[in-house]
Amino acid sequence: VLIGVLGGGQLGRMLALAGLPLGLRFRFLDPVADSPARDVGELVVGEFTDPAAVARFAAGLDAATFEFENVPLEAARAVAARVPMYPPLAALEAGQDRLHEKELFRRSGLAVHDYAPASSEAELAGAVSRLGLPLVAKTRRMGYDGKGQMVLRTPADAAACWQRLGGVPLLVERLVEFRRELSVIACRDRAGRIEFYPLTQNVHEQGILRTSRAPAPDVPGAVEAAAAGHVRTLMDALGYVGVLAVELFDTGSALLANEMAPRVHNTGHWTIDAAATSQFENHCRAIAGLPLGPAGPVRPAVMVNLIGHLPDPATVLAIPGARLHLYGKAVRPGRKVGHVTITGREGPELEEAAGRVMALSPRC
Ligand code: AMP
Repeated sequence: VLIGVLGGGQLGRMLALAGLPLGLRFRFLDPVADSPARDVGELVVGEFTDPAAVARFAAGLDAATFEFENVPLEAARAVAARVPMYPPLAALEAGQDRLHEKELFRRSGLAVHDYAPASSEAELAGAVSRLGLPLVAKTRRMGYDGKGQMVLRTPADAAACWQRLGGVPLLVERLVEFRRELSVIACRDRAGRIEFYPLTQNVHEQGILRTSRAPAPDVPGAVEAAAAGHVRTLMDALGYVGVLAVELFDTGSALLANEMAPRVHNTGHWTIDAAATSQFENHCRAIAGLPLGPAGPVRPAVMVNLIGHLPDPATVLAIPGARLHLYGKAVRPGRKVGHVTITGREGPELEEAAGRVMALSPRC
């Protein structure tokens, strides 16, 4: 069975590392020849906007998926016209536009913080007076890792913001004073069965994920069940197949849905080492029409992203419970080049080991 993956980054690489033992083979499309996926399958080097490259990629595939959500829709459509493509295009489309995403959340019953679209400087000023300050303005499209965002604290910030973010359509949201950030990772198969991983607690630094802890501590069962119920509604409505991640703000009294990713997700990397079936394996199973594996039982885990810096592997591996995952990427400032997952018993030992990993890998 040959699976095509649009994108050849670390997520594609980890999909193949999980899918190869199941008898799946992989082909990737990526503009960059030394993409992380080069080691784990056939890499078609070409632009997503090049119809000939897309056709070469799609020829002979049994199913296709994507590993980053800003794949140009024309490329995804061209592939979907030839082979079954999961998750469905509707999910990719919604995930590419922050306004559509929020509307989808609302329809599915997920709580969202106040927001308004703004497609001109005047609309931005109008949104500022309607919603009140402080606010976060985000470009509706192509934002990731905190890029394309600006916090507005005074009415005068609106004009500078419109300039700074490039005069493109924006989504303006209330700045949420959250206690912590959580994410839901779920996988739905072709028959509509869903596996939910326990909620993950995430810490971002300057918009980039630094650590994830799972299971997130102190989440009331009823709160988790309600969030899962809404994600189920969302996945059912889209006819979703594969892994979906939804990022949430926990305010102490509510879980507010911030954004979704229609793909395997950095906040689910811990599942490789600490869940009964990883998000990558379950995504492969779902898109290949295989039965899902159980998410649990899971072991307590802390995942630390290696950002712009590669620690000495031997030193990392000497830390009890630490598992190293390198992506085969050149080190550049701000770039995710790998991650370390520490598993073990919840408590001081796990935290101590996580602290040692953090100290070895200053974020650069
Ligand atoms: P995003 O690209 O929407 O995931 O935003 C990146 C990070 O910025 C989030 O993980 C939060 O830490 C922060 N952030 C985004 N939106 C808001 C908001 N409305 N209120 C407070 N913090 C936010």
